[in-house]
Amino acid sequence: MDMPAAQSRPSGSDALGSVGTIGAALPFLGLLIIGVAFPLFGGAYWSLIATRAYVYWVLVSGLNLVVGFAGQIAIGWVALLTLGAYTTSVLVAGTATPALPPYLALAIAAGAGAVFGLIIGLPALRLRTFYFAITTLGFATILTQVALAWQSVTGGGVGVAGPIFPEPFSSPTGFYYFCFGLAAVCTWMTANIAASRFGRALTAIRDAEVAAEACGIAKPALLGMVFLFSGAVAAIAGGLFASLQSYITPDAFTLDLSVLFFIAILIGGRGSILGPLLGTILLTVLPEFAAPLVAWSTFLYAALLLVIVLAMPGGIAEILDFKNRRPLESHRAIVPRPDLLPHLLGVPTDAGALALEQVTLSFGGVRAIDGLDLEIRPGQVHGLIGPNGSGKTTTLNVISGYYVQQRGTVRLNGMALPVLARNARAQMRIARTFQTPRIVGSASVLENVMIGGTIDGKGTFVESLLSLPRHRRDEAMLRATAMLALAAVGLERLAPARADRLQHSELRFIEIARALMLRPAYLLLDEPAAGLSPEEIKRLGVLLLAIARAGTGVLVVEHHPDLIFDICHHITVLNLGKKLAAGTPAEIRSHREVVNAYLGG
Ligand code: ADP
Ligand code: MG
Repeated sequence: MDMPAAQSRPSGSDALGSVGTIGAALPFLGLLIIGVAFPLFGGAYWSLIATRAYVYWVLVSGLNLVVGFAGQIAIGWVALLTLGAYTTSVLVAGTATPALPPYLALAIAAGAGAVFGLIIGLPALRLRTFYFAITTLGFATILTQVALAWQSVTGGGVGVAGPIFPEPFSSPTGFYYFCFGLAAVCTWMTANIAASRFGRALTAIRDAEVAAEACGIAKPALLGMVFLFSGAVAAIAGGLFASLQSYITPDAFTLDLSVLFFIAILIGGRGSILGPLLGTILLTVLPEFAAPLVAWSTFLYAALLLVIVLAMPGGIAEILDFKNRRPLESHRAIVPRPDLLPHLLGVPTDAGALALEQVTLSFGGVRAIDGLDLEIRPGQVHGLIGPNGSGKTTTLNVISGYYVQQRGTVRLNGMALPVLARNARAQMRIARTFQTPRIVGSASVLENVMIGGTIDGKGTFVESLLSLPRHRRDEAMLRATAMLALAAVGLERLAPARADRLQHSELRFIEIARALMLRPAYLLLDEPAAGLSPEEIKRLGVLLLAIARAGTGVLVVEHHPDLIFDICHHITVLNLGKKLAAGTPAEIRSHREVVNAYLGG
């Protein structure tokens, strides 16, 4: 992103950022101190329980990115615990290879876990919701069966001894600190991801997949990285688990355990790190207090899950989210600052015209658009009007690459745009908003806007995991640019609020801010004035004109004649997928057919 954006950041964003981070880090710091001191006052038995919680958390921390952030129902993740446990134990025991040192075995298990995590995760790209859940369960069953059948290596039903890690980690206290250290590192790494463009992109895929694609987020690559990471840490947890159990048999890896991991995340709250961490501790400790109820554990988990889904869908994280309980100001006006747009959008580069030529797209028997010609020029506002069902949204979907036309061409500066993945148009700086706003309700307004700049980050997933300098620079840049975009649309004061607490009209402006993060050469807006007050529509008009003046080509689909006739340089009228008329606002106003058919006399 160009630097002018970063320099002209509105005051206040810095303070907001650092106070927010310190506040969010405090609970983790508290847990860290308790964890370090625990063996001193907790006693041997409870230290053992705590060690188990850490082992589980090493797995859950990675799974949390899959389930809590990306929203994939990976219910059979115990498969990777099984894989990691057996790989580590077998390599250390030397039943298949010469005996290896435990650390090397654990590292190999992590590698194997990463590969398997990817294999188990891949179906998520094709299968939705519970179909994917079933495939993960399938893998879990297969691995247990392999462990049972491959007697010469795994010991079959008799089992195999778990690894013992060398000094200083061989004693129970030593092993406690080993697991605690790994759990702490996993917490840190996943918190880094949560606070990165990757974490935000995952929540966008979960809650607003179409918007994520429009922002240029590539789901396969992103999910691939998450599955690799999640598989690796789950397998490491497996190695630790085997050591903790000292002896493993296939029946140690039950479905109950898998369900525990999954429910810990749901109890904790999707899109949170602290919540699932507390959820894991709770579910590990709970059976200790309810020993007589062990036989009922499956029933209890199910009941607990029902209570959560029905009574507190946001989980522990929502209960702890005090910040969002404070009421928002009730009389909030959206006051855009078009003067900030040149800072945000930079110096216009002439992208050339965006033209549709004879574009046709049918859905079954319905010709949604039929031989449509349309040209959008940089620096101008083009209005697209027409009755409901006339093909306006479909036109926008074709330009943004969401649909592929059956005939005709979309040209940018004379070049036909290739048919690529849906997220490819963002690279060409074609941004859009949606007829119904698509946002991540549980994320803050600022985070939602930052999602729009995802493709401008430079750091890799690993750099974000480890919070390396490039990741931190990306975050500072995205935060500053998003604050500027929010100020430009007039919503910077709402930056820290949860997006689902906002009014409908505010969501429309958030979508515009998110689209502006791409520094769009073309901005496509689908009924941006729907649900706005007359005053807000006026301000929207001024904002859109200013965006065009900054060099962007704007396409507005609208019903409000005042907005269209006030701001458009050129108008196209659609009817039944065909162009009914095209021209300047004055020409359209006096077009007899349009007046009769659409403007109602
Ligand atoms: P508008 O935005 O102008 O109201 P649309 O572009 O949404 O109209 O729809 C144009 C026509 O295409 C309508 O008849 C609509 O029912 C049909 N249509 C749009 N999308 C689909 C789809 N995904 N599947 C089937 N029909 C569709
Ligand atoms: Mg529409």
